[in-house]
Amino acid sequence: MSKYSKIAHYQDFSELKNILEHSENQYDMEKITKAYEFAEESHGDQRRVSGIPYILHPTSVACIVAELGMDTDSVCGALLHDVVEDTEITLEQIVKMFGGDVAKLIDGVTKISKIPYSTKEQQQAENIRKMLIAMADDIRVIIIKLADRLHNMRTMDCMPEQKRRDKSVENMHLFAPIAHRLGIKAIKDELEDRSLQYLDPIGYQEIENALLLSEEGRDKFIETIKEQITEKTKDSIKSVYISGRVKSINSIYRKTIVQGKTLNQIYDVFAVRVIVDNVSDCYNVLGVVHDIFKPIPNRFKDYISMPKPNMYQSLHTTVLDTNAIPFEVQIRTWEMHYTAEYGIAAHWKYKLGMGGDGGNSKLAENIQRVKEMILDQLETEDVTDLARNIRNDFTENDVYVFTPKGDVFNLPVGSTPVDMAYLIHTQVGHRMVGAKISGKIVPIDYKLKTGDICEIITQKEEHPNKQWIDICKTASAKSKIRQWYKHEKRDENIIEGKQMLEKEFKRNGIHLTEEEHEEFFRRVILKKQYNTIDDFYAAVGYGGIQLWKIMPRLKEEYQKTYAKDIEKITVPQAPAKRHKANSGVVIEGADDVLVKFSNCCSPLPGDEIIGYITRGYGVSIHKRSCTNVPRDLNQCEEPQRWISCHWEDETGEAFRSTLQITAADRTGLLADVTIKLSNMHIFIHSLNSREAGDGRAVVTATIDVTGKNHLRGVISKLSDINGIEEIKRV
Ligand code: MN
Repeated sequence: MSKYSKIAHYQDFSELKNILEHSENQYDMEKITKAYEFAEESHGDQRRVSGIPYILHPTSVACIVAELGMDTDSVCGALLHDVVEDTEITLEQIVKMFGGDVAKLIDGVTKISKIPYSTKEQQQAENIRKMLIAMADDIRVIIIKLADRLHNMRTMDCMPEQKRRDKSVENMHLFAPIAHRLGIKAIKDELEDRSLQYLDPIGYQEIENALLLSEEGRDKFIETIKEQITEKTKDSIKSVYISGRVKSINSIYRKTIVQGKTLNQIYDVFAVRVIVDNVSDCYNVLGVVHDIFKPIPNRFKDYISMPKPNMYQSLHTTVLDTNAIPFEVQIRTWEMHYTAEYGIAAHWKYKLGMGGDGGNSKLAENIQRVKEMILDQLETEDVTDLARNIRNDFTENDVYVFTPKGDVFNLPVGSTPVDMAYLIHTQVGHRMVGAKISGKIVPIDYKLKTGDICEIITQKEEHPNKQWIDICKTASAKSKIRQWYKHEKRDENIIEGKQMLEKEFKRNGIHLTEEEHEEFFRRVILKKQYNTIDDFYAAVGYGGIQLWKIMPRLKEEYQKTYAKDIEKITVPQAPAKRHKANSGVVIEGADDVLVKFSNCCSPLPGDEIIGYITRGYGVSIHKRSCTNVPRDLNQCEEPQRWISCHWEDETGEAFRSTLQITAADRTGLLADVTIKLSNMHIFIHSLNSREAGDGRAVVTATIDVTGKNHLRGVISKLSDINGIEEIKRV
């Protein structure tokens, strides 16, 4: 398999005409023909480095632009894009012959090409800024430029190696990210793959070979999947289009060669894409897919209700086939599909189709939003920051959030308004009481998204909340909150630290008299960095010392000196009840126990497990089959130290329950139900909706619950959804 042809790729005017004729847009063929003839004449007998007539380059670029669905002026602009730069023709002549719009496009493309590229950060930032200005002015300019770039990459083989590498680096740093920002995946993927081929030919080849090896099996695999989905949807959903796809080589490269994973560890090397006519069918297909295949937890993403910043929409889920081979399923409508492939260009196309600006206000709004984001970035003072922000914006590990004034802050994924506040200024963090996103108050643990406008609400007094330490994501925010508590709340810290320690002592069976206490500490603790016991308590109180870390040593010291009967110091036997520990393991009959996973067998959720009560380290969890676990627990030494336990969610069996939800019919109903369920981490077997007449819809959801109480909780959460009239079990 070779995704992209290695032969230089040129298209001529008859091919361009063919594309335009088969397009759903209306083109002014007379104007385009005139542009072609004028370009051909102007370039005369100029040739490309490879010796091929020059005119084939702008014609090929025009083909790419036309395939993206751009308008007549864009196609003319593409045909004429090198005329002013490379021939005697002036812009004035173009204005006279083709009008001001075409001239503006050509001027824009020429100007972008003159922006020197530099690997120096400052210079690069300045370039991106210029590029963005051109882009914000008329998005068509950058689309023509991207097409020009792509065609040059397709015909790069005859260039000297250094030039190929330079252009490739430039693509990776500049043009591919811009294509991504505009959502033009087709161009982004090909630019990256072709650049990678020059930057690391060996790595590229390795991946290509690996994919080639598995080609036959893969095709068969995808065929079987397709058949199964078709079979199950053919009666209920009309017009289901299914295709298989392979991830782009560059993204496989990122995960294998850069992140060190093997091909088998990437869930979505292979994916099946299902395209349907409308949004509710998307959710219906999802239900069917989850019915046939076993979904992998936490791999379901609903980008329909929550589109990505570049307007991408789809449902993603990763499932296992009957042989436990994971694959990704992407479900979308045709409109979402065009947006995914052609991004902002697709919207351009739709807008034209609707007859000018009046047509679809939501799409116009989206384009406006992208423009505003770009302009907001331009207001940022420090261009170096800007460049860094833009580049980080495209790595999936960062989000990128605005203040109401338009300043941009870059935060790791999962960051909250608290992180943002501390990033703005330590004082802002300390004084924070709440946050607004786009004018609406959000919970303090809200997860920031790229493009959010986040306003921090502050009060006069400094008073951070200690629980924020667990909520916030960045180490710097955590440490600033700790610092504050360390300095401001010493008295309270001492009291709290003392209480925490007493509790922990009790739990570990450490009993000391008042005098022993003093002496114990002087010996064990104070020789280190703490001058007084109060200093030590304070450190425990504000979280500078984590008790679970020091307890084993304290306990050991205690046992050496004071304890006579060590055997009694084991986990206290609480009344038999199930306790959910943070580790995800439930120790039967024991409450609040320190749990650790043994290194000898590293148990994973789903494994049959057993606990061993250690001396001083809580309960250590082993696989039942681990060689360190005695075969027969009745015959082993100290059988009382083995304790049965199980995984948190594995309360015997989950049972399957079907709910019938009656609600006032509206768009987004099914999405709301899905989101509610997935927020509760409920496994959905199937989810369907049908009209019930008189403006009602009936949603049928088959889900896994752990018991009646759980089900009751789920029903009560679902009842909050707008318009729900009745929920019953069937
Ligand atoms: Mn060109």
